[in-house]
Amino acid sequence: MKDILTDTFGRKHNYLRISLTERCNLRCTYCMPAEGIQLSPKEHIMTYEEIYTIAKKFVDLGVTKIRLTGGEPLVRKDVSQILEQLALLPVQLTLTTNGIMVDRFIDLFKKCKIKSLNVSLDSLKAEKNRKITRRSYFEKVYQNILLLIREGFTVKINCVLMKGFNDDEIIDFIKLTKEHPIQVRFIEFMPFDGNRWKMDQMVSLQDILQRVTTHFDQKNCIKQQDALNDTTKSYRIKGYQGTFAIISSVTNPFCDGCNRIRLTANGQIKNCLFSSKESDILTPLRQGHSITSIIEHAIQSKFKVRSGMDTIDKFKQTDAHNNRSMITIGG
Ligand code: SF4
Repeated sequence: MKDILTDTFGRKHNYLRISLTERCNLRCTYCMPAEGIQLSPKEHIMTYEEIYTIAKKFVDLGVTKIRLTGGEPLVRKDVSQILEQLALLPVQLTLTTNGIMVDRFIDLFKKCKIKSLNVSLDSLKAEKNRKITRRSYFEKVYQNILLLIREGFTVKINCVLMKGFNDDEIIDFIKLTKEHPIQVRFIEFMPFDGNRWKMDQMVSLQDILQRVTTHFDQKNCIKQQDALNDTTKSYRIKGYQGTFAIISSVTNPFCDGCNRIRLTANGQIKNCLFSSKESDILTPLRQGHSITSIIEHAIQSKFKVRSGMDTIDKFKQTDAHNNRSMITIGG
């Protein structure tokens, strides 16, 4: 059978990221425009049966990993049914969450064989956290991270760095990995609709490493082996239990090993995080049509790098982005 999930550059897309909802219980400044977003009408959002049907099609075609994202996936009322259904598929099931509600789902995560979770946390200071999320949940999230670690889950912390805001906490975040077997991932701030992105607000891979090696000394920063499909460049401080990593989509894109395909909550396929073109898979599904050719077209029409923005100059031209807000993509 033709390998529909392998694009024209030989990249096999076996990792599906599904955004379950456009809703969230936070209002992070780099994700959600201050004025909020126009939510899709309820009837345009995939039902849990449709999510299962589309996910199963992708798995039949070769997907081996599914990540659930949002908005905040756990605010979706039928998220338990979705988790239980997707857990029936032969895939590695995982989740990206803001961590506020995870304490209510520990048993269900275990039942659904979810072993690893990514938790978003952009500051270790409650007041700064309130400023960036426009809500006051720092303590809850921090305690839930410790709970997940105690319960034996693999925990990765996603931290979007912004110059002059939380870049002074890089070392404090890394110090968390001394006692905890977690991975702290520093994400270069990226442009999405409504987040007022500017290149000079972004803290680059090079800048982060400069600060880390200055503080810990180069010889104590041990480069870890990254897998081909990894989005991270990861390191361990000598003697520390955990690792830290950098996701450098802006200054050092990692598209050569891209294996990711995205499905939005309103049933659109995005073949790249930065693609403005999308393929509607929900309408044909509801009309009883086959969705295989739509998946194939989305994969075969994928650009090599960042949806065609293969140079930093092209990438800096924000009007070139014409993308959704992050809350409706799910990272
Ligand atoms: S920018 Fe697009 S092609 Fe590159 S790694 Fe991200 S999703 Fe893949």
